[in-house]
Amino acid sequence: MSIDDNTLVVVVSGPGGVGKSTIVEKLVARDSQLWLSRSWTTRERRQGESVDAYKFVTRQEFEDNISAGGFLEWTDFLGNYYGTPMPNPPAGRDTVLEIEVDGAQQVKRINESALLLFVLPPSRQEQKARLRGRGDADQKVDKRLRKAEEEEPIGKAIADYVIINDDLESTVDEMRRIIAYERKQRIAR
Ligand code: ADP
Ligand code: 5GP
Repeated sequence: MSIDDNTLVVVVSGPGGVGKSTIVEKLVARDSQLWLSRSWTTRERRQGESVDAYKFVTRQEFEDNISAGGFLEWTDFLGNYYGTPMPNPPAGRDTVLEIEVDGAQQVKRINESALLLFVLPPSRQEQKARLRGRGDADQKVDKRLRKAEEEEPIGKAIADYVIINDDLESTVDEMRRIIAYERKQRIAR
């Protein structure tokens, strides 16, 4: 991992629709020391989704990059590949990864000092409403809700902090406090 030891790797994980992308967007907008890694995926771009939300690639391109050792971690999530390219943050910046729980486990194995923030919805009902509100098709919503039942016990077990994303602004503030605290701890070490 080409990240220097004095910087943080912040992993934001949690089930689909919990609000990870929304939270991370606000975190990086408010903290210029954070550098957001852009993942690769083979899934299709959602309607209205930004063109650079991901590097959208074919399965062949993704598999070629696996063979080339180009990913820090990657996984197959509900039939599509998702992966974090080897991070190369600007000097002194802390890296943020917004990934699902299998990837979070892989990152923790490679770098045990990575800070894992695991986000939970206030309820399954609210998660469902958020997925629907985002425009996910009913079949996708069901798959993501079922997947969440598998992901949550693992995420809770490996997380450094578990955060319930009820009020968005409170969640972002809480994460900023945690990141500030963890930075101080690392300087003190
Ligand atoms: P994820 O990245 O975890 O899959 P998103 O960031 O796409 O989730 O959020 C899913 C939907 O929920 C989006 O429409 C987003 O605007 C909304 N959302 C995120 N956080 C909250 C919150 N705290 N309260 C209400 N809606 C939220
Ligand atoms: P979505 O299709 O909703 O954008 O993403 C599906 C899931 O894949 C989400 O939980 C998201 O956080 C996760 N994800 C996005 N990028 C990566 C990545 O690079 N690696 C892994 N392991 N998961 C990712």
